[in-house]
Amino acid sequence: MKLQKQDVQIAKLIDLETNRQKTTLQMIASENHCSPAVREALGSHLTDKYAEGYPGKRYYGGNQFIDKVEQLCIDRAKKLFGVEHVNVQPHSGSPANAAVYVATCAPGDPVMGLALPMGGHLTHGTKVSFGGKFFNAVQYGVDEKTHLLNYDAVEKMAREHKPKLMWVGATAYPRIFDWEKLGEIADSVGAYLVADIAHIAGLVAGGAHPSPVPFVHIVTTTTHKTLRGPRGAMIMVTAKGLKKDAELPKKIDKAVFPGLQGGPHENAIAAIAVCLKEASTPAFKKYAKQIVKNAKTLAEELKKYGFNLVSGGTENHLMVIDLRNLPHRQAGKSITGAEAQDLLESAGISINKNSIPFDPAGPFKPSGLRMGTAAITTRGMKEPQMRQIAGWINEVISNHSVAPKIAQEVKKLCKKFPLPK
Ligand SMILES: *Cc1c(COP(=O)(O)O)cnc(C)c1O
Repeated sequence: MKLQKQDVQIAKLIDLETNRQKTTLQMIASENHCSPAVREALGSHLTDKYAEGYPGKRYYGGNQFIDKVEQLCIDRAKKLFGVEHVNVQPHSGSPANAAVYVATCAPGDPVMGLALPMGGHLTHGTKVSFGGKFFNAVQYGVDEKTHLLNYDAVEKMAREHKPKLMWVGATAYPRIFDWEKLGEIADSVGAYLVADIAHIAGLVAGGAHPSPVPFVHIVTTTTHKTLRGPRGAMIMVTAKGLKKDAELPKKIDKAVFPGLQGGPHENAIAAIAVCLKEASTPAFKKYAKQIVKNAKTLAEELKKYGFNLVSGGTENHLMVIDLRNLPHRQAGKSITGAEAQDLLESAGISINKNSIPFDPAGPFKPSGLRMGTAAITTRGMKEPQMRQIAGWINEVISNHSVAPKIAQEVKKLCKKFPLPK
């Protein structure tokens, strides 16, 4: 109400965005709807406080309550993920990953990660990001036929390149990671192994994806994807990490502050603490399992309509459609990822264009579409709604002119499944 009076322009735009989220399906795989409790902590007076340093060792006074908030957040994360040390201060996923490089590598050191067009993340060594700019990064991929991580190639590359740091994690990989195998590869060359579980953290916390914790040294994650918290990130050190390098917790804390950041966002840290409490409930376990069930149902339905999926399906919260050679389209009338994204958007279905492995079309006009089920599962949707949504996707891609009609049906469905209250 105050904002409405003081700044009509921003208030109006926030209303419009809220309404967009309420009346359309958020199926961008990295997005979700956090709880009102999380948003309340995020909008609290904690945003006003400077707290450079760590609990008990701050550069400013007045942090007696802030210390308790941050410590509670750390303790909850340690318990939920079963790790030895957690830093909850990174402002987001990319800064968290930057801190891992700073903590473990010197500029120019050899590093390894999954290539972006194969489903990896920018920060895992692509040329345009700091990993690729400041380190000697090589990139591995997936198998051309199965689209599964090519573990033999990873091993061969590790032997040749001798990385100091190995990244495993993805933004568009629909399959389960074999953490144990990756752990063995990293150990055989003496590399630090980081699992970047940004996308799947909620699934790991909820028991719907195996945890990397026993097999890796470091785990990074964002807090706003399947974990369903505020925008933020965490860096965790496992027992295995501590065994390899007892100084790792200290190195990571120093890399975050003062290495890369100044004052932490304690309002966000309080909101992460709230999200971690939510994530340790039985209801969250149910939600995590339902995300995967929903993704599997959506994938199976899409396949029935003739869509090809990267790796043939999904085992987590996301899938990638390969739009080439769609049977619904007459020969010569192919559709690009960008066109399909716009089309679905006009039907009230928000997804994003994405590269597919070995994409012949290049990164600017990719041949794929990525979609995820986290946010629509948060709204309470289940298998019957997935069948409905798959049908709509099929209809829109087959016949553009039905988009406005489907947008109305999407709106009706959204009304029955409101955002978390
Ligand atoms: C989203 C993501 C990140 C980066 O997070 P931002 O908060 O967008 O900086 C890093 N790694 C992976 C695997 C991600 O999916």
